[in-house]
Amino acid sequence: MSGRAICLPLQRMSSLMSLEHPVIAIDGYSSCGKSTVAKSLAKVLGIRYIDSGAMYRAVTWYFLENKIYFPLAGEHSDLDYRPTLDQIHIHFEVKAATGESEIFLNGHNLKKEIRTMEVSDNVSHVSAIKEVRKRMVSLQQQMNTGAGLVMDGRDIGTTVFPNADLKIFMTADPEIRAMRRYREMLSAGVEVSLDDVRNNINSRDYEDTHREESPLRMAPDAVVLDNSHLNFDEQVEFVLERIRNLRPA
Ligand code: C5P
Repeated sequence: MSGRAICLPLQRMSSLMSLEHPVIAIDGYSSCGKSTVAKSLAKVLGIRYIDSGAMYRAVTWYFLENKIYFPLAGEHSDLDYRPTLDQIHIHFEVKAATGESEIFLNGHNLKKEIRTMEVSDNVSHVSAIKEVRKRMVSLQQQMNTGAGLVMDGRDIGTTVFPNADLKIFMTADPEIRAMRRYREMLSAGVEVSLDDVRNNINSRDYEDTHREESPLRMAPDAVVLDNSHLNFDEQVEFVLERIRNLRPA
């Protein structure tokens, strides 16, 4: 899937939009290409993009790095995570050279660290912790300054921004997702097997949809985007078409 920008002049797009600063929620299963579509939309619309998954990955990295206990699937813990979470400060910075939004935890750029298999294998456990979700949701809501926002994740349309102007729910055939992710990781120089990638996607989907606290669900007013057989331009066009039809409430 290409990451190239859609060739739609910003001015033309803005003139077609009836909402100036939309909040767009993109949720869906793991490795559907949510962030690629979300980034491109934010660029076309000239608004901010936030990768909420990166925030859960950063917290997971911190837990692993500092050997903080967290319950695995099916386990339960009564630990009070608030003091640990008080030590964690997350923010995003847009790199001038690339225009990419990068995540920082306590001042450290974690762009690479959060993409390891170790983090991927544990992020669904850490993100199921009630207190972790509460903190991240609150931080995500504060990021909506009124200037428009595209945020992708699992609970953006249901919990973070239930009044989002547009909600997209992305899905794709699990085998197609696994193959795409596997190729992406190989080209990024990460040594991994297709089986490991497939297992990771399946177990994250399972845990994300079965956790108690804001599980991955499609919001009733979301539009489904199944991109199993769509190229990148077709996916972005699908969303832009819906943005053009937005009307102020
Ligand atoms: O989007 P990404 O695949 O990087 O997200 C990593 C993990 O973070 C997900 O599998 C899920 O466990 C968690 N997550 C979440 N809620 C979000 C975004 C991500 O629980 N809004």
